[in-house]
Amino acid sequence: MGSGVRVNMENPLMPLDYQLLFESIPGNYLVLAPDFTIVGASDAYLAVTLTQREQIIGRGLFEVFPDNPDDPTAEGVEKLSASLHRVLAFRRPDAMAIQKYDIPLPEAEGGRFVERYWSPVNAPVFGPDGKIRYLIHRVEDVTTQWRLEQLGAEQARELERLNRALEQRALDLEASNTELQASQHDLLVAKDAAEAANRAKSEFLSRMSHELRTPLNVILGFGQILQLDPMDPEQEEAVDHILKAGRHLLDLIDEILNISRIESGRLQLSMEPVHLNEVITEVVELVRPLANQRGITLHAETADWQVCVHADRQRLKQVLLNLLSNGLKYNSEHGSLTVSCADHGQTIRLLVTDTGPGITREGQSRLFKPFDRLGAEATEVEGTGLGLSLSKRLTEAMGGTIGVQSRVGHGSTFWVELPRAQVESAPAPLPAVRIVRPTTKASRHKVLYIEDNLANIAVVERVFARRPHIELIPALQGQVGLDLAREHRPALIFLDLHLPDMPGFDVLQALKEHPATVAIPVVVASADATPAQISRLLAAGAANYLTKPLDIRELLATVDELDKADDPQ
Ligand code: ADP
Repeated sequence: MGSGVRVNMENPLMPLDYQLLFESIPGNYLVLAPDFTIVGASDAYLAVTLTQREQIIGRGLFEVFPDNPDDPTAEGVEKLSASLHRVLAFRRPDAMAIQKYDIPLPEAEGGRFVERYWSPVNAPVFGPDGKIRYLIHRVEDVTTQWRLEQLGAEQARELERLNRALEQRALDLEASNTELQASQHDLLVAKDAAEAANRAKSEFLSRMSHELRTPLNVILGFGQILQLDPMDPEQEEAVDHILKAGRHLLDLIDEILNISRIESGRLQLSMEPVHLNEVITEVVELVRPLANQRGITLHAETADWQVCVHADRQRLKQVLLNLLSNGLKYNSEHGSLTVSCADHGQTIRLLVTDTGPGITREGQSRLFKPFDRLGAEATEVEGTGLGLSLSKRLTEAMGGTIGVQSRVGHGSTFWVELPRAQVESAPAPLPAVRIVRPTTKASRHKVLYIEDNLANIAVVERVFARRPHIELIPALQGQVGLDLAREHRPALIFLDLHLPDMPGFDVLQALKEHPATVAIPVVVASADATPAQISRLLAAGAANYLTKPLDIRELLATVDELDKADDPQ
């Protein structure tokens, strides 16, 4: 390219200095002869290719810009050459795809190649003769965009990879969820099986307890009959042993029965506001004879308490009785036993404090466990090792808590905490069990005993043998009992609740509905002595309720009431 004409500022239409203009243009331009010799370059091109004009003008394009020999994948020369040849052949511009075309650094700077990406366009410049005179090679350095795009592509790939990993995770999670559901199902099945087994165990224990009671009734019954007559001291001692062991066995059975009832969820509670004063007075009076016998002073610091707790009256009494009798059993000689209350706002705490030996920390951790007597089994003190365990279950069934504070050598305080109840709503306690005196004297010598167990009949027959003026009529079935009652109009009927042909309750109702039998007092004798059962039978018209094993003296007292009723006032 020859030197151009300078700009004439006076007259802008004057010819321009095209060479200067071309070289200063803000773009990377190279002008090639058709044989690819470099004939011109813009300053910008020189700058981006790190070259000097005088170094490159007149030299072949590929001599100046060879492929990077260190890059075996380099194909810049080949692609550019192909494009330039296309321009020559087709005589039209040719836009190339982005090229990696590394730039050699000047020798002075180490002669290395610098990685570069280019977007080239090659265009023909025609002479007046229509022949291609020059080739214009324009490049844009897109290294930065390229890198960014690559980075973007890399990130996109990374994102894609993460996405796939996430999808896999989701699939894995779904799979393990399914597994979890399966094992949850297995767990539920196992839980159901365990619960069924537990129910079966409780059911078995409950049945066993019931079955064990029947022969025990006979042992205790005849043992007591023996006691009614004078015996020599040896026989007396033997009978004492029989009765003591029998009663111990009965306690065990009762407690196991209670525990299994709680565990199988068959313990029926009748929750109501219970006056603490009444309950405490009752239990304190119950244990007073035992306290006197042992020389232990009994204090009840609750006399003026007008407070009610939400509880099942009978069960609460059972728990307190157990704590009080423990406080007497495990006390020091001439010690004291105190019952007190503490107001905890929403709850009331009942405390039973003794002056016994106290319980070590280790012992405290074993309390409330069935059959663990903490070594008391080696002493004279009698017990089953079930009392506290049962008390705990009963208390918790009533929504309360139970615990102990103890110092070895000083004594123990057992406490029961129950929710407070509204005083106003406390109902009057159940009326005391009453005996309805017979109104007819016609058949006062006859007592009907409706009971299917022959051994029990044998015990009662023996007892009544002591009252020769009484004729005992046994009935082994409910319907037979009803017929005999109507026929004989006995002075008193003893009624068992478990009969082979009909429930004892229905027999009672039938007796109370028939005019011939409505006035005859019916005393229920049953092993099932739950408070709910007792109230149901009393409400249906039963005169009294005796629990089995029968207390022989109580049984005799009941029939002797008949005679008193006959005595003129
Ligand atoms: P039992 O009295 O029939 O053995 P419990 O379940 O009532 O069974 O009590 C378990 C054990 O806890 C008792 O054997 C006794 O060793 C201990 N224990 C209970 N109450 C007291 C107490 N007030 N003082 C010291 N030890 C006690």
